[in-house]
This record gives sequence, C-alpha cells and structure tokens, in this order.
Amino acid sequence: MLVAVLLAAVLLGGCSEDESAESAGQPSESVVTAPAAEIAEPPTENNPPEPIASAAPAHSAADGADAPYGLGMPALEPLPAPQPAEQEPPEQSPEVAPAASDEAEALPRLGIIIDDVGNSRSAGERIIALPAPVALAIMPFTRNAQALATLAAEAGKPVMLHLPMENLAGLAIGEGGLSTRMSRADFEAQLQASLNAFTPVQGVNNHMGSKLTADRERMDWLMTQLAARQLFFVDSRTTKETQAAFAAQAAGVPSVSRDVFLDNERTQVELDREFRLALERARKQGAAVLIGHPYPETLAFLERQLPGLERREGVRLVSVQALLRQPH
Ligand SMILES: [Zn+2]
Repeated sequence: MLVAVLLAAVLLGGCSEDESAESAGQPSESVVTAPAAEIAEPPTENNPPEPIASAAPAHSAADGADAPYGLGMPALEPLPAPQPAEQEPPEQSPEVAPAASDEAEALPRLGIIIDDVGNSRSAGERIIALPAPVALAIMPFTRNAQALATLAAEAGKPVMLHLPMENLAGLAIGEGGLSTRMSRADFEAQLQASLNAFTPVQGVNNHMGSKLTADRERMDWLMTQLAARQLFFVDSRTTKETQAAFAAQAAGVPSVSRDVFLDNERTQVELDREFRLALERARKQGAAVLIGHPYPETLAFLERQLPGLERREGVRLVSVQALLRQPH
C-alpha cells in the first residue's frame, strides 16, 4: 500500500524531476506523503529558514502600493485572450474603471511564479491559462523553453529565466548552470548563453543556488550583467545567507525576494497551508511573492484557487514586476 502511494507520488512528479533535486537534504519522495505533523521542516535548499526581516528586502508600503511598475506590465485581470503584442489597454469600461481600479490598488497583492518550466509543454500551457499574471520561470535549454516563452508573452504573462546555480549539496544543476569554480570570463559567457537561450526574458530568478547566491562577488558579476540588460531579479532565497538582493540593489537591478514556497510538499493540506501563509504575508506586508512548481497537484490547486480569489480573500493577484523594489 505504502509502496503504491510512493510510486504514484514519483510518477506524478515526473514532469519536473529536477525539482526533487531542489529539495536538497530532504529525504526524497517519502516526504510527499508523510503526515504534516511529522515533518520537522529543517532548513533545506527548498525550505530555508524564514527570511530575517533585516536581511530580506522588505515589502513595505513605500515600495508597495504606489511604487511605479518599473519594468512591469500592468497586472492583467482574468486571462486576456492571446493577441499579437501591440499595445493592449486593459479592457475596462471607462466609466467604472477609475473607482474600481483605485479600490483594487489598495488591496494586499500577491505575485506568483512557477519555477522549473520548460520540459513539459502541457504543464506550461496550464500555467499560461491560469486567470492571473503568473510568471513562467523557464529553465534554459529545455525542450519547450522557446515555445512556452512565446506563448506566455503573447498572453501577457511574465517570462523569466530560471537560472541554475550551484547548491551546497553538490546536486547536478543542469545545462546553463553557474558555479563558484568558474572564472569571471567563463561565468559571464555561461550567463550570456543562458540569457540568450530563449526570448523574451524580462527577469531572472535562481534555480537552487544555496552556494552561489551566498557568494557576493559572483552575485555582483551576475547583477552587473542583468543591469546591462535591464532585467529584474527575484531571489528565490534557497539559503538565508543569500547575497543576491543586496547585490541587485547595489547594481541597480530591481528585485524582490520569495516569501513562500507553495509546494515543498504536495498534499492538499500542505498546499493549502502554504497558500494561506502567502495570503497572510501579503496582508501583513502589503505584498508577497509565492513560488510553486509545475507539479500536477500544484497546477490543479491553483486552477481551483485563483478564480475569484480577489473577491473571496481581498488579495489582488499581480505580476511579479509590480512587486519589485526599485534600486535607489
Ligand atoms: Zn528550480
């Protein structure tokens, strides 16, 4: 019986096998079905200790409600029809738009990113179809990277490069990865290759990276390149030692840090718990960033939760660009 459950968990996780690697240090698939009460939540690659307020760039009212969208696009309301990328004004009635929009501006905001996209086309299409500006963080050199980047951009969804970075556990990070052993020339050449792997790329976040993001010198190398391309950075915070947000600010790169991982465990109870936590953070801080992965359980969960969320919970779904902290 237990074997069957575990096997099912492994099979269901097949579309993102690299993600199990991101849960470095966790005792693999058995965690998926373990009762919540037995999970001690040790600090791991995918589940680091909660951000310390002083270490993480805070979402404050100052960088929140009235911050410019910067590189971002206006948050799109439920699922715009894919259109050629002309300038698309939001389809709202002119008479009611101002009041409704002012009210919406005042709501707590939640930005969602789905990492590890690019292997499964159908999973990518499900993310694009979600009724919210959910960002696709696409792995470089994956089979469907370009096709999904194109579809997402056409649908007005944010497109990010999910950049593989060296982790403390020594797990394989896949093609296009950056490590602390690279010379600056090699590091920059690899980075450029990954940034050019598909188009468009509006921003970057780290895949794994518990070792590399703690290396301030290399984070400075990274952010210098992102600044030159006018890209934003989302720190996935796979280690509490991360220097990425500091380096981003220093280099003039708009950035924001992940608040909650949605699906470290993929049971209904845990997905619900983490989603509630993200809503709570958004209410408390004014905004929050939630990261999930293209697991079938996660996609099904979001397909149920996102429609009508603003009405039910009073939390507005926005693109991650709307949550960026602008550099000084
Ligand atoms: Zn990842």
